[in-house]
Amino acid sequence: MLEKMEILHVEKVIEEFETMTKDTENVQRETLKKILEENGSAEYLQNLGLNGRTDPQSFKACVPVVTHQDLDPYIQRIVDGASSPILTGKPITTISLSSGTTQGRPKFVPFNDELMETTLQIFRTSYAFRNREFPVKNGKALQFIYSSKQSRTKGGLFAGTATTNVFRNSQFKKAMKAMQSQCCSPDEVIFGPDFRQSLYCHLLCGLIFREEIQLVSSTFAHSIVHAFRTLEQVWEELCVDIREGILTSRITFPSVRSAMAKLLKPNPELADLIRRKISGLSNWYGLIPELFPNVKYIYGIMTGSMEHYLKKLRHYAGDVPLISADYGSSEGWIGANINPNVPTESTTYAVLPNIGYFEFIPLKENVEEQVHDRGDANILSMEPKPVSLTEVKIGEEYEVIVTSFAGLYRYRLGDVVKVMGFHNSTPELKFICRRNLMLTVNIDKNTEKDLQQAVEEAAKLIAEEKQEVIDFSSHVDMWTDPGHYVIFWEISGEVSDEVLKECCNCLDRSFVDAGYVSSRKVNAIGPLELRILRRGTFQKVLDHYLGLGAAVSQFKTPRCVGPTNYKVLQILCDNVFKTYFSTAF
Ligand code: AMP
Repeated sequence: MLEKMEILHVEKVIEEFETMTKDTENVQRETLKKILEENGSAEYLQNLGLNGRTDPQSFKACVPVVTHQDLDPYIQRIVDGASSPILTGKPITTISLSSGTTQGRPKFVPFNDELMETTLQIFRTSYAFRNREFPVKNGKALQFIYSSKQSRTKGGLFAGTATTNVFRNSQFKKAMKAMQSQCCSPDEVIFGPDFRQSLYCHLLCGLIFREEIQLVSSTFAHSIVHAFRTLEQVWEELCVDIREGILTSRITFPSVRSAMAKLLKPNPELADLIRRKISGLSNWYGLIPELFPNVKYIYGIMTGSMEHYLKKLRHYAGDVPLISADYGSSEGWIGANINPNVPTESTTYAVLPNIGYFEFIPLKENVEEQVHDRGDANILSMEPKPVSLTEVKIGEEYEVIVTSFAGLYRYRLGDVVKVMGFHNSTPELKFICRRNLMLTVNIDKNTEKDLQQAVEEAAKLIAEEKQEVIDFSSHVDMWTDPGHYVIFWEISGEVSDEVLKECCNCLDRSFVDAGYVSSRKVNAIGPLELRILRRGTFQKVLDHYLGLGAAVSQFKTPRCVGPTNYKVLQILCDNVFKTYFSTAF
């Protein structure tokens, strides 16, 4: 009976999605109307002269396109406890801290019930499509999820990362149950105050329930790789705990200890089995299916800055499929992965037209068209001209603008996406990169994506030596004359100077943007510098962000560290132990 209800539910979700995406334009119009009606009394909207109008044309005419910086004073007043409606009709009671790993410090964004509901809708939608291809039944999930510290703002609002706000919400647990993907770890572990202790206990819970685990997941793929790298180091200690039924003394928090004590019983057979399984592996290949024989797939956001971790994740996963989770941000969700079968690197996200009102700034044509229309070339004075969700064109790249149920209106998210196709009449987006992450000295422009491709290319050289790039970042050094690119690498083990020198040359040659190549040739950009970091440096970077209130669940290594992100730059620079300059040009 229960099974039947689940199948019915899943089909209903797909049916609703199909109906909605066949009528994207109207659904968008209705969604905008609903957002503006619900929040019509908010000071921000009142001041813009909409006078009750809710149609897209009036909305675009009255409401400016903004950045987080523009809304910051309004959000700050909410954070400080102002009681009048500022950005939303209903008062905001919770604040999300976005990861801030790109800006260097967390940003505050409003969180409310409507945002929670859209989160669940995204989860349900991708689950429904995923479940058709990869059904899970009455299983458990090994989820590497962690909460951030939840604090109170000066004005008494709850503040935590968006994922923490979601995990704490009672609806989340219910939804996970309905999706038959309940986390195998107790709440005390998920919400434990120290993420290293939580990680250890997640691993232990996974091993205790190894037969029942049907999926391994986390919000971002980075956390899964991080977890299994840790397992490589602590597996013997885990086996001792399982054998004796006593938790290591390293776990110190009483709430975590007592929750784990309820699960842990002496089990020498299981400890021996794990030892045998791990001893039989060659270089940890296929670790996940070996430990969790019934795992159906591995799930988490795997695109964008997470692509770097895929190689390692595939190594651990053996033949278990990797499926990327959905596309969204602390500010709101955007699209669901409804094609779980495609290779991870080609994942697209179908926009859900009822979870927000979406616009897109065309990145290539916009300025050229306007120059043509206006006959002048004063590019800097031009306003971006966004198009609507149904006006985007296949093959084009855009910056995403969001209008949400949580008080953000025409908000530039800063992400670049490419339209790969349409599902009915809603676009399917490929995540390209963050727009503001740019390496540039003069006329060169290299994005996060260009950097990643260069690193991938150069990393092949150390792969021949059986080593890998654990993580990487970059910086533009303008203190030298001319300025030059600096790439930071943390690598897994010893690599000879000759090979690293060649990696440095390869990185330099791999930035193929015409501005870079021509500038390098005339020495308007100096030789690229590769700095090798001590092992554990990126762990220090992670710790730094955790100290600022970020959560491991949402962590993204900053790929380009500017001078304003002084602390991170200092951590990187203090941990350099070898430096190479390119001789490629
Ligand atoms: P946060 O600031 O922690 O809320 O993270 C949100 C950001 O993470 C987005 O603006 C994207 O840059 C990135 N992100 C979220 N989902 C995905 C995805 N599916 N693929 C690539 N990047 C993503």
